[in-house]
Amino acid sequence: SSFLEMSLSRPILKGLNSVGFTKPTPIQSKTIPIALMGKDVVGGAVTGSGKTAAFLVPILERLLYRSKKVASTRVVILAPTRELAIQCHAVGVKLACHTDIKFCLAVGGLSLKVQEQELRLRPDVVIATPGRFIDHMRNSASFAVETVEILVLDEADRMLEDGFADELNEILTTLPKSRQTMLFSATMTSSVDRLIRAGLNKPARIMV
Ligand code: AMP
Repeated sequence: SSFLEMSLSRPILKGLNSVGFTKPTPIQSKTIPIALMGKDVVGGAVTGSGKTAAFLVPILERLLYRSKKVASTRVVILAPTRELAIQCHAVGVKLACHTDIKFCLAVGGLSLKVQEQELRLRPDVVIATPGRFIDHMRNSASFAVETVEILVLDEADRMLEDGFADELNEILTTLPKSRQTMLFSATMTSSVDRLIRAGLNKPARIMV
């Protein structure tokens, strides 16, 4: 298959060109069409499979074709580590370089004050680690949960192993129920399964 068959808009196709992706990986071929329909997704995929673009491409596309006049944070992406969040942010910014989609990186080690100021500007996409995100989510002055339409849990098994089950459950119950949720995990443990049952709505399961 090809990205051209996925009815993506020109700015996203140009973004894929900018990052040098010409042919979708298997996880991308399977995930992008389903995620574009707004369905919840569970992806069994490891780092190296191309899962980052598998969720970023449909997210950016949905932000474009359902654009908003007023700035609002519409997407939250959670990753287990600073490094993964930073990588995801870098790929997102590059893929979106032909759009005016705004990103914010919210991880530990960066100034909380500066992040709060950035979040008040309502960036479209917030990429965060769970601990830092929950600090912002609990502080309604800097973060508005009501506008969130899409949530991604990347490497869910690692976030659970790192002891973030309570945080993830709080996030799943606080963000709007009407959202689209995508969860990626290299392993499907019983705790990942509990998280899926708690937070996803009839997800399509994609294993590669
Ligand atoms: P990920 O699993 O998302 O961390 O991606 C693993 C690596 O594959 C990264 O270095 C990406 O830049 C690269 N990659 C992802 N998708 C594609 C693609 N469609 N074509 C070529 N390289 C890709």
